[in-house]
Amino acid sequence: MKLGLLGGTFDPIHLGHLLMAETALDGLGLSQVLFVPAGAPPHKQDLAKTPARHRVAMVERAIAGHLCFAMSRVDLERPGPHYTTDTVRLIRQQYELSAEECILIVGGDSLVDLPTWYHASELVTLCRLAVAHRPEYRPDLAELEAVIPGLRTRLDWVEMPLIGVSASDIRARVRAGRSIRYQVAEPVREYIEQNQLYRS
Ligand code: ATP
Repeated sequence: MKLGLLGGTFDPIHLGHLLMAETALDGLGLSQVLFVPAGAPPHKQDLAKTPARHRVAMVERAIAGHLCFAMSRVDLERPGPHYTTDTVRLIRQQYELSAEECILIVGGDSLVDLPTWYHASELVTLCRLAVAHRPEYRPDLAELEAVIPGLRTRLDWVEMPLIGVSASDIRARVRAGRSIRYQVAEPVREYIEQNQLYRS
């Protein structure tokens, strides 16, 4: 059993997330990828966020029909703040996973930010990391290793095509009345339209 965890605000879930999950599943031989929508992410508390029920509904629609994709409500069903170290601990307990069996999937921008995460050095002992490159972010492993000793040995790269899709750009496009077709799964695009999300 090797379980991939993909945490995110998913506001909305987009093709970058899905491609990252699929390439990690395939490339690292994971048994399953668990999408973990954030309740109140500590680093994004300043931003107005779409209610969890919408973000959850969009994740459900995006992953529907994929036998190896599932969603966890672990960060929605407990009071925040939700630090990733706690999320990883809870999921490991729930699924009875060792640190080697629990793979946290993150984009290159998150890896660059890792030193600012709560208990980052501990986090890399609790799970392995799978990192997907993201345009415009070039993690400097030597620099990161100086702050988080042993990081290199805890990390695998996810070989995915670079994709410059981001949730903030999608929200801005909707606000501007522009197309987001093919940047999100079609059922997600329909959900955004039907519920008039991101219009203002
Ligand atoms: P926002 O634009 O609002 O910051 P986002 O697109 O980064 O949102 P999140 O839900 O915050 O989406 O991201 C969850 C995880 O997915 C993070 O680890 C992030 O690095 C990763 N990720 C998001 N988009 C991409 C992408 N296009 N390529 C690689 N990784 C990505």
